[in-house]
Amino acid sequence: MYPLLEANLAYIGENASRMIEICKPYGVGITAVTKVFSADINIARAMVGAGISALGDSRLQNLEAIKDIKCEKWLIRMPSPSEAQRAVELADASFNTELDTLKALEAACEKAGKTHSVILMQDLGDLREGYINREDMLRAGEYIDNSAWLRLYGVGSNFACLSYAYADTEKLAGLMALGHEMGVKLISAGNSSTIDLMLSGGVPYGVSNFRLGEALLFGRERAKYDYLDGMHNDAMMLRAEIIELKDKPSMPFADIGCDSHGAKPTFADKGIRKRAILALGKVDTDIDAMWPIDPNIEIIGASGDHMALDVTDSASELRVGDTVAFRLGYNAVLRCCASSYVSRSYIQ
Ligand SMILES: *Cc1c(COP(=O)(O)O)cnc(C)c1O
Repeated sequence: MYPLLEANLAYIGENASRMIEICKPYGVGITAVTKVFSADINIARAMVGAGISALGDSRLQNLEAIKDIKCEKWLIRMPSPSEAQRAVELADASFNTELDTLKALEAACEKAGKTHSVILMQDLGDLREGYINREDMLRAGEYIDNSAWLRLYGVGSNFACLSYAYADTEKLAGLMALGHEMGVKLISAGNSSTIDLMLSGGVPYGVSNFRLGEALLFGRERAKYDYLDGMHNDAMMLRAEIIELKDKPSMPFADIGCDSHGAKPTFADKGIRKRAILALGKVDTDIDAMWPIDPNIEIIGASGDHMALDVTDSASELRVGDTVAFRLGYNAVLRCCASSYVSRSYIQ
């Protein structure tokens, strides 16, 4: 069944063990973030099999999908108060920034007869989640210290997700000092955007955890968007089927209206070209984060359910019914895994 997402589990395992090795000298442990691949259990198992000891996801449905994997589970988005009970059931720890939610978690713990670990988040500039006011954060810490059901596990911060604000040495040192003041050793200081700072020696020793999604799956850090040495960047591939193959002009032959952003598109006249249409579209993938394996194939564009390719320069004798393969990046995998139209297969 196409479109088909192919996950190379051997490559994913190798990426995980390589990343563990890269972070080790800096004293940084890894929580693998599974949200980009909707917590596919085979991919998550490959990571844990390679030595990853904690998995994190932003959604409870995803944590549910991996509940049978034996390792620590983190809910890395603040729990919805209405889902506090399921959060306590499915996650060992969660990220928190609201006293009302802590109270809801506490009540849920009592009902379940189970304790819950809390990681308090500080906002260090990205303006997504976290306390701006450190007094409020200390007060939340005190609340947790006085709770019979909650345990203060660590402090954390997130970077480069909403405003593309990056971590720096001073900010991380401040977060660590605050954590130590609150009596915790777990300092969870970022994501794939913090790797570059670590490699240049800018992450203070004592910062103990990174939460990594992109780096593990794609072998890519997120500050300069560099590929990391010795890691695979083709672990995730997509294959789709050709449903039309015709020579067509490269210039549309009609009056041109505006696209769905209200802009008028422009076209370059390259004469008659061989165009393929794939049974694949924006519903299934992000065409800006995928690259044909055949370097002589070019993506022209896509609508919801059709993708147009220029295959004129391809050396392969393509026919209708053949498949075309792509290497995928972050947003393409995100959408492929969320699309119920995309099948999956695994390379061991
Ligand atoms: C998504 C997410 C991550 C992982 O980010 P990557 O850039 O994929 O490494 C880490 N922390 C939080 C809070 C997240 O939401």
